[in-house]
Amino acid sequence: MSNSLQTVNIGGLPVTPFKSMEQAVKTICSDSHILPGFAVAINAEKVISASENPEVKQNLLLGTLLYADGIAVVKTIQKKGVENSRVPGCDLWKELMLKAARTNKHVYLLGAKEHVNQQTAEKLRQEFGLKSLTRRNGYFEEESLVIEEVRTIRPDIVTVAMGSPKQEQLITKLREAHPDAFYMGVGGSYDVFVGTVKRAPKVFQKLHLEWFYRLLAQPKRIFRQSALFKYAYKHMTNRL
Ligand code: UDP
Repeated sequence: MSNSLQTVNIGGLPVTPFKSMEQAVKTICSDSHILPGFAVAINAEKVISASENPEVKQNLLLGTLLYADGIAVVKTIQKKGVENSRVPGCDLWKELMLKAARTNKHVYLLGAKEHVNQQTAEKLRQEFGLKSLTRRNGYFEEESLVIEEVRTIRPDIVTVAMGSPKQEQLITKLREAHPDAFYMGVGGSYDVFVGTVKRAPKVFQKLHLEWFYRLLAQPKRIFRQSALFKYAYKHMTNRL
């Protein structure tokens, strides 16, 4: 499969539009192949943050596969005449784990607290049937040991749940050691997966109002949400 995926420019970020989750997963992983590179989720907040801070933009551009994690980005891509749908990062991770199990890929599961990481691995083995898995929590002392481990084990898929920008910075180093793998930063996805952090209720997810649910749950996020208003303005005035 070709590595040169079509992208749409969203506020200076080359985002790859996917018509469905299935298409995204297929692009990344099939029986015979793994797309080497680094997937980065793009939402309105990140687009605004990148437009205001060159360092953030540079970090996002470390990714080789930027995908539309937020509905606002999906709408802007549609407005530019390209059909696409939302690929939520934690769903992409789960679907990819299922595909990895079915296609016998080796997964390196890095990040989160020891009990969360351990439970995540257990659940992937038990419920997803993932056989080939290496795991390590995200509170290690020696980064160089982790890099050496990845170089030696040569996993197909590496997912890192250590929050931003830590996970992105580590992935950049891991890719230098082992460029053939597919890398993904997944933030708090393992915590959600094993139930230590709850996702928004389904009704909010369906209405694309997860952002609103999180705002109600954590009012401090109001500052982050202000980016959404800036984004909406740019979207409506064709400035993205
Ligand atoms: N974490 C980690 N190592 C660290 C700091 C954080 O493994 O040194 C883990 C933490 O346990 C949690 C995740 O990183 O599982 C952070 O998720 P958060 O929701 O803060 O990330 P975001 O999705 O906001 O980027």
